[in-house]
Formats: sequence, C-alpha cells, structure tokens
Amino acid sequence: MILCADIGGSFIDFAAVRPGGKLEYRTAVPTPVNDLTAFVDALVELCRPWPGVPLHIAIAGVENPETGIVHAANIPCLKQASLGEFLQAKANRRVLIANDADCFALAEARFGVAKGHQNVFGIILGTGIGGGHILSGKIVTGLGGITGEWGHSPTVLPPPFMNCEPDHSNIVPLFKCGCGQAGCLDTIAGARALERLHLWAGGDVSDSRSILTAWEGGDLQAERTMTVYLSYVSAALAHVVNITGCTIIPVGGGLGNSKSLIAAIDRAVREKILYPTEAPLLIQATLGTEAGLLGAACLADV
Ligand SMILES: [Zn+2]
Repeated sequence: MILCADIGGSFIDFAAVRPGGKLEYRTAVPTPVNDLTAFVDALVELCRPWPGVPLHIAIAGVENPETGIVHAANIPCLKQASLGEFLQAKANRRVLIANDADCFALAEARFGVAKGHQNVFGIILGTGIGGGHILSGKIVTGLGGITGEWGHSPTVLPPPFMNCEPDHSNIVPLFKCGCGQAGCLDTIAGARALERLHLWAGGDVSDSRSILTAWEGGDLQAERTMTVYLSYVSAALAHVVNITGCTIIPVGGGLGNSKSLIAAIDRAVREKILYPTEAPLLIQATLGTEAGLLGAACLADV
C-alpha cells in the first residue's frame, strides 16, 4: 500500500492506494498555502494512522531533481523548500514527489485510456494547460525536472520585422503568462485564457463552458474564437506528436469534458503531423479526479 496526496492550491486530496489502483480512506483537507509548518503538519497528520508507509505526492508544481527544491506557483510557502527531505524527516517515511500532470499521464498509461501504449503524452486542458510524457510506463524526466510542458514557451510571437506595418486588429495580443513570459500557449489555451481570447475576438463576457456550448451550436462569434484557439493548440500539439512519436494523447481537465472540443483538436492535429493516422490520437481521459493519486502511487517504479 502507498499513501498518496494530490496537492493543489486549494485542497490536499489524500488516499491510501492498494496495488492494482484501488483507493481507500480518501479524504480532502484545505492546503495551507502560506505556512510551511502547517503545510507539513497537515500531511504528517494525514499519514499518522499508517506508520512507515511511504507517501507519494502529486503536486501542482515541480521538484528540481538536482536540488530537491519545489516550486509551486499556487503554494507560496513552498518557495525554495526542499519539501521531500523535510517531509521525510517529519513524517518518518519515504517521500516521493512529482508534478501532477506527469502523475495524470502516468495513471492514464498504467490504468486508464492509454493502457497498453508505450509512448503516451497526456495533456490537461484546465484552468491552465499541462502535460506529461510517459515512455514504457515511466515518466520521462529532464532538465530541471521539467518535461511535458507544452504550454510554456512563447507561441504567439510578435511581428519579427520592425519596419513592417501589421494590421494589429487581427494579431492575437501577447498576453502575459503566469510563468513570467508573454505569448505562451497557456495564455490562449486554458479555460480563463479562452474566455479572454473570446473577448479579444469580439465576443461578450462568457465562461469557457458557455463559449464551447455556443460553438457546438454553430454560433458565429464562438466559431471565430475557436478558430484561433484550435489553430494555436493544434499546431503546438502537432509539434509534440512529431517530436515524441506518442501514439495516444489522453485529455483531462475541465475543457477536456467536451468531446466535441477533443474531436476538433484531434482532427486539426492529425492534419498537421508528418505521419497521417486514421485513428484519433486525442482521447478523453477516463480516471477523472483519481488520476493524480493513482499516478502518484506508481512513482515507486519510476
Ligand atoms: Zn508560460
């Protein structure tokens, strides 16, 4: 058995995971985001009934494998903390930490829709966007602990020539991204980003679900927004497919609840990749909110 915690900016989702992926004793407590001692105490308390049982953590952040330092934008108290080392001593048990999107992808590869695939690139289309690359059942790890982050490099680019006179009314603005850059795909493809994109494209204030519903119903304004959205998202994912050779892309997150959105992105991606596949590559994920916990449980093997 492994104790698992899926830690976001609002809640710590906790469960004991049996071999085979059965969750028991699932519970949730608020995440103490501004107090490191309270944060560690919350986890120690959750683990207390099972002395010595390892704790695996999926977190909305990244652990640098060289330094052990965890950076999580929504959990400021972890700033510069060697969380694993600290927790291991406090909770008196083995602690492993991984990015939550990596855990999502690992879970879908082991137990979910991508079971049987050796090369899996899982994506989250949520408030923001994330991803994880799984090869032969293991998370691909790399530079600074960052892999699979297809949403964070500038994708919307300014006009390259100083002297050209672009028609600015048709150029997507360089929105500032939470990662510190501007023009990342995340500034277009997340749920909040889609709402802002809709406003820029001439639409009214609307939540992402309503925009998708209007688009599915053939609304011309929503169609205009989604044309921009689909062109950027599918171009980025076509790069992902060409580079990784992944044979399936499980899709999770709030926007991933829309089957028609997944189908539209999938069609656009398959039009842009070098190896044209008949079968869809983007498939709706199946594990829902359990994915982070289930992926964390598999970390011992990676
Ligand atoms: Zn970014």
